[in-house]
Amino acid sequence: MNVILLGAPGAGKGTQAINIAEQTGLTHVSSGDLFRAALRDGTELGQKAKAFMDRGDLVPDNIVIDMIMERIGAPDCAKGVIFDGFPRTVDQALALSDVLQRNNQAIDAVLYLSVDQEILLKRISGRVTCKNCGAVYNIYFTPTSQPGICDRCGSDQLYQRSDDNEETARNRLDVYFHQTTPLIDHYREQGTLHEIDGQGDIAQITHAMVQAIGANSGH
Ligand code: AMP
Repeated sequence: MNVILLGAPGAGKGTQAINIAEQTGLTHVSSGDLFRAALRDGTELGQKAKAFMDRGDLVPDNIVIDMIMERIGAPDCAKGVIFDGFPRTVDQALALSDVLQRNNQAIDAVLYLSVDQEILLKRISGRVTCKNCGAVYNIYFTPTSQPGICDRCGSDQLYQRSDDNEETARNRLDVYFHQTTPLIDHYREQGTLHEIDGQGDIAQITHAMVQAIGANSGH
């Protein structure tokens, strides 16, 4: 079982992917997290991606595709994956379906989290992430219960992503509308797309997404 999370930056993909992975047992694969880890570790991959990420542009397809192919070959991905932030272009989507097909697998569901455009900027610029466990909060909408302390793991290592500043965030939204929204029609034509309202209670949104996955898998 393989599931893709589609949606703009700030739509809540990261938060929902963590919840869905917990509830379904799928392995969470986030292309953005993989790039950020490569940057932190100072690897060649991180160096190649850095300038694109700093501007809020997409990293070239060949680099992203190679990185994801390597990741999904790992043993923990054999039970199925929830893809977060990948694919982001039609070419990435085609590369993914090719490799899955070769392994007798498929994309079972694509969950498109839709959120009004005005809300997205506030969501991005208010976002903080826990360095320790990856939990995501928003200082305007979903703050931690105690300031600066992660509700999930108790760590005080909350930080704002460097590409969540307003200028880069605007470019990321632009890039999303031009390069990634064609994927919505691509997957709609394939009959795997579920549109989910990404505004409202986080747990209810997770519930709707898990239901949609269940409907597609025939559970
Ligand atoms: P994210 O955490 O998903 O918002 O990704 C952060 C940044 O990583 C993006 O702004 C891109 O520069 C890069 N990135 C992540 N995933 C992809 C992808 N599938 N294709 C191209 N660039 C990506």
